[in-house]
Amino acid sequence: MEKLKKDIILLLGIILAAFLLWLIPYLLNKDASAMVTVYQNGHEIGKYPLGKEQTISIPYGEDGYNLLFISGGEASISDADCPDGLCVRQRAVDRNGESIICLPHKLVIQITAGKERELDAFIY
Ligand SMILES: [Zn+2]
Repeated sequence: MEKLKKDIILLLGIILAAFLLWLIPYLLNKDASAMVTVYQNGHEIGKYPLGKEQTISIPYGEDGYNLLFISGGEASISDADCPDGLCVRQRAVDRNGESIICLPHKLVIQITAGKERELDAFIY
């Protein structure tokens, strides 16, 4: 019986270690140096820190616009006058590589890492 107990504890330890290894990069992904990069028509038109709370108006054509809202380490489109309004309804993005797309305005909001994280080399 003693042996079985030890085996179970060992197994739980391995599971916990595996879980932590999975969790650490997941947490690191949400880093303070992340940027919100704005592309229009395939060109980068702006880059804003995800850590700074602000609202940016992105003009489109004559009088179109998208309002990019950055708050609490998340970015979302708070308002837009595009015909489908899909970008406004998309949930906020906060992780590296996630994006919000406004097709009618050819606009892409993407989270990009602000700088290379040295810890990555350690974990992978
Ligand atoms: Zn839109």
